[in-house]
Order: sequence, then C-alpha cells, then structure tokens
Amino acid sequence: MASFIEIKNLKKHFGDHEVLDDISLSIDEGEIVSIIGSSGSGKSTLLRCINLLEEPTSGEIIIDGDNVLRGDISKEKLREKIGMVFQSFNLFDNMNVLKNCMIGPLKVLHMDKEEARKEALKNLALVGMDQYINARPKQLSGGQKQRVAIARALTMHPKCLLFDEPTSALDPEMVGEVLDVIKSLKETGLTLIIVTHEMQFARDVSNRIIFIDEGKVLQDTSTENFFLHQENERIKAFLKRFHQI
Ligand code: ADP
Ligand code: MG
Repeated sequence: MASFIEIKNLKKHFGDHEVLDDISLSIDEGEIVSIIGSSGSGKSTLLRCINLLEEPTSGEIIIDGDNVLRGDISKEKLREKIGMVFQSFNLFDNMNVLKNCMIGPLKVLHMDKEEARKEALKNLALVGMDQYINARPKQLSGGQKQRVAIARALTMHPKCLLFDEPTSALDPEMVGEVLDVIKSLKETGLTLIIVTHEMQFARDVSNRIIFIDEGKVLQDTSTENFFLHQENERIKAFLKRFHQI
C-alpha cells in the first residue's frame, strides 16, 4: 500500500541558508510520529512545507496520492486533509470558543449552521472544553486555548494533524492536559505528526521517531529503538539533556 505522506529529496532554502537539506521520508496512514531535534534544525519548516505554509525549493511531496508541488490538489483541500496546531494557538480573538470551532465547517466545508454547531460541540466535548463555548480566547488559560485549537482542527475532519510544539508556550502545570488530549486522538486512527521537546510524551504516544539535525534526517526509527537502543553519540548527548537515557 502507498504511504499516506511521501517526501522525496525535499529542500528548502531561505536565501542561501539551506534549512532543509534533502529530506526523504514516508509516513503511513494512522502512524503517530514524533519529530525531535535541536532548536533551529528545521522541524517547523518541515511541517510547514507539508501543508504548504512554506513553498519548498525542490523535491516532491505526495500526500494521499496527490503530488502537492505539482498542484494535484489545491492548498485549501490540502489543509482540510492536513490540519495544523501551532505553539501559539492562533485562535481568532474576536470570536468566542464556539464560533472559533464553527468557522471552518461553515466557511470551508459549507455545512449549515446547525450541523456546524453540532460538529463544534462534539469536538469541544472531546477536548473537555464544551463548558466554555461563550468564552473569548483571552479569558482562557494557555492549556484551554490549545485544547480549543485542537477541537477547531478536528472540526475539519482531517486525515492528519501536524502539531508544532503544542505545549512549548504553556505554563508547566498546563502541559499535561494538552498532552492527554493529543494522546486521546491515538484511538481515532488519525495520522499524527508531532514536533515536541516532551521526551516522555514522545515515548508514550508515538510509534516512530524522526530526529532532524541541521536540516537532515539523522535518524528515523521505532520509538523503542530510539529511546532504548540508541547508538548515535549525537542523539545520546541530546537525550542526556532530557535525562532520558
Ligand atoms: P526548528 O523548528 O527546528 O526550531 P525552524 O524550521 O523554525 O527550526 O528554522 C530552521 C532555520 O530556518 C532557522 O535557522 C531559522 O532561522 C530559519 N528560518 C525559518 N523560517 C525562516 C524564514 N521565514 N526566513 C528566513 N529564515 C527562516
Ligand atoms: Mg520550531
């Protein structure tokens, strides 16, 4: 069976700064992959290339059979299929929680209002935020905002969600509630690609780890191999900082 995401020889330059240097990888439907690496190694750029928030310099990205750089699928359709959750939430501050979660289904999926409301409420309940439908984002804690952002992404019925350091902007006491919500998505069959510095979480939730170093895939292996049988000195040194091995 073909992979859900297939990336071949992906390069991204900003000017003469080579940020992604010949990345090739493939991810099957339903896989849960954590992307790990030092700050500045190109992790966000890789995620942003996958749903075309950045235009790659060269290479191929094939998603669900569509060659996205050749234009087989529109950016809009691609982003319905592949949702993204950002470190900084990116909620609409001028709308309440319910509206934030209805806007995609209404405007993009053209659901009628009642259906969009049902969809929003279902997903807000899933992340434990259905009690807050009338609140504005600024009235919520960081953890609550991120849970709403996850609900909002789910309302688009994506096949895959990309998470870019979803807990990095949170106070430590709120990290757990967001990680628990992401963990609960494991059962849904969604493909999850998670950039994170939470090593324990990566270990618990993912079946595979991709370690990015200076724009290259330094290692792509099972979670077990990564944490329990790590041979690479550079990665060992990285993990030591997190006291993981
Ligand atoms: P990570 O997410 O692993 O911390 P990024 O993908 O954000 O890394 O960034 C990788 C490198 O690309 C960094 O050196 C960063 O400064 C550079 N970079 C990212 N986005 C841009 C941009 N829009 N313009 C110029 N340089 C960028
Ligand atoms: Mg980043």
